[in-house]
Formats: sequence, structure tokens, C-alpha cells
Amino acid sequence: MANKDIKNLVRPNLLTLKAYSSARSEFKGRADVLLDANESPWPTGRNRYPDPLSTELRQALGAFKNFNPDQIVFGNGSDELVDQITRIFCNAGDAVHALPPTFGMYKVAAGIADAEFRATNLAPDFTIPVEELKASWDDRSKILWLCSPNNPSGNAMDSAVLEDLIRTFPGIVVLDEAYIDFVPELSFLPRLEEFPNLIITQTLSKGWGMAGIRCGAAFASPFIIQMLNTIKMPYNINVLTTGVALEALSKPEEMKAKVSTLIEERKRLERELPKLDCVEYIFPSVTNFLLIRFKDSDKVYQHLLDNAIVVRNQSYQPNAANCLRITAGLKEENDRLLEALRTL
Ligand code: PMP
Repeated sequence: MANKDIKNLVRPNLLTLKAYSSARSEFKGRADVLLDANESPWPTGRNRYPDPLSTELRQALGAFKNFNPDQIVFGNGSDELVDQITRIFCNAGDAVHALPPTFGMYKVAAGIADAEFRATNLAPDFTIPVEELKASWDDRSKILWLCSPNNPSGNAMDSAVLEDLIRTFPGIVVLDEAYIDFVPELSFLPRLEEFPNLIITQTLSKGWGMAGIRCGAAFASPFIIQMLNTIKMPYNINVLTTGVALEALSKPEEMKAKVSTLIEERKRLERELPKLDCVEYIFPSVTNFLLIRFKDSDKVYQHLLDNAIVVRNQSYQPNAANCLRITAGLKEENDRLLEALRTL
């Protein structure tokens, strides 16, 4: 797909929308005295508005990812990016496509934009049914959400299938790589330039351990980044989030060590859980969580709650009957989970 075709996918009113101009972006040069933004003057470290373009944070993430900082935009969690991307491309009645069971926000964002949510269920082994998906799209189709590794199944999608879908879908493909820090070698980021219709989203919430600060990133062509910057709230990444995120990004070794520990813990759960009577099947995972089919998931769910252990019930999702999603925690937490399941 050529860049000019991407323009045709954007809601036409946004192409001429002028973004909000923040006080500090209206001058160039030295700034000793700042009386331009109706801020409080006491220098507490949080009295000034943040940089709307998160320049320093983009440089830090770009350096870590080996990616052009000018093609990054941050969201208040990647949740916010899901909503923004939907609103850039979808008029009421346009279609977005996703492959359940998958992350729930794609559907919510479609609902907010009054877009049609077209679901093509993943196959029972959670691979993509390519032909069925292709048969479902048409000239109303604007966005295809691909989640790899997928939540809640935990598997990564086949790279050749992802590439084929990015090349053939007639709209924007968003590859949600929220769990990519657990399998960085599978990221499509190094190849983003090959695909003008591709947006990749990632987050500091998972491998980086920063769900509380709300910081997600989108990577895309300069035109799509420009659209995201046009519609986003000017100060969506606050100074506290920025400071904590910069500190984390300056210590990638800490993140990598924690990711390795969690992968080891997930593997331990994969070894120990099948020894239990209540477990029927563990779906292969490359993430920090497991989707597990139990003989009776309601009973297990309640038993875990009775032991003050909370997991996520996925049994209402397509192809996930009797399934619970369990996150790998600290070693002691996982021991407690296993112990509770042994006493069922
Ligand atoms: N994508 C996927 C696949 C997720 O599982 C999640 C969170 N559970 C998100 C995006 C959103 O993450 P955040 O808003 O914390 O960046």
C-alpha cells in the first residue's frame, strides 16, 4: 500500500484539523523566565507542563529499540493508543477486524467510535484462520488488530502469516506487541519501514514492570505519527511518568533480568501444573502468563479465590471453555498457587 492510499483511510476532517498549540511550542530561543503558561512558579519538579512531544523519552526509547525517535508517539498506556488509532481511521459504520479470543480494548474502542467490530475467531490451537479472515474484509474495512504474542492465549503468530496479512489487508494493520519484551527476536519493529500501513504498539506495562505509570508507544510512518500527534491530548504523558520511564529505560539490564526470571517461573509452572489432577491442558506460551484448560474452571476459580488468589477467567471466550489465564508471579506466589491447586 502506498502512502497516498493511507491518507485516503483517514477520516477526512482530520486531514485539515489543526492540532492544539501549547504555549511552549510557540517560541524559539532562550527561555530564562517562563510566564507563558499560567503555571505556578515554584520549582517543585512538577509545576511545569510536560513536553507535549515527549522528546527526551522518544530519544531514550528510540536508542533502546534502535528506531527513529521521530516515528514514535506515546500514549497513556497502549490502551489510549488503541482508542486514538480507531478514531483516526473509523467513521461510524466502518469496520475493524480482530481475532478473538484477544485483548478486549479493540472491541471497546470500536464501540466508542460506532465502528462495526468484525470478529474472526482464532482456530482451536489459536493460529489465524487466514482464508476465513480474508473472506471477512471489504471496502468498509479500516483496521485489522493483530496481537502477537496474543493475550489471552500466550502464543506468537506465525511471522509469514502476519506479513501476508499486512501486505493484503486493504487498510491499517496494527500489530500489538504488548508482550514482545518476552520474545524480542519476534518483533516486526526492525521491518516497519517495509509496510506503510503498519502500526506497531508496545508498552512499558509488561516486561518493563511499569503498568502503574501508564506508558505505551506506537511506532509508524511519519504521516501516521503526525495524525496521532494531531489528535492526542497535548500533555498525555505527565512529568512523573516521564521521569520514571526515563530511569527504567536507562537500566535495560534490570528489565532483562526480570523478564528471564519470569520466563523461568512460567516454565516451572508449565512443568508442575500438568502433574495436577484438575489440569487438562496448558496452551504453549511465550509470555509471562499461561492459558490453562481445567476439568472444571469455575470450581478452580472459586477455590483459588477462597485461598485469596486471583486469576482471570477466560471460559466465556471463543475456544477457551474451562480456561483460566494465570500470570507468572514471584516464586513464592507461584508456590502458593501450586499449593492451593494441590489441595483442591
Ligand atoms: N495490549 C495487550 C495485548 C494487552 O494485554 C494489554 C494489557 N493487558 C494492553 C495492550 C494494554 O496495556 P497498557 O495500556 O498497560 O499499555
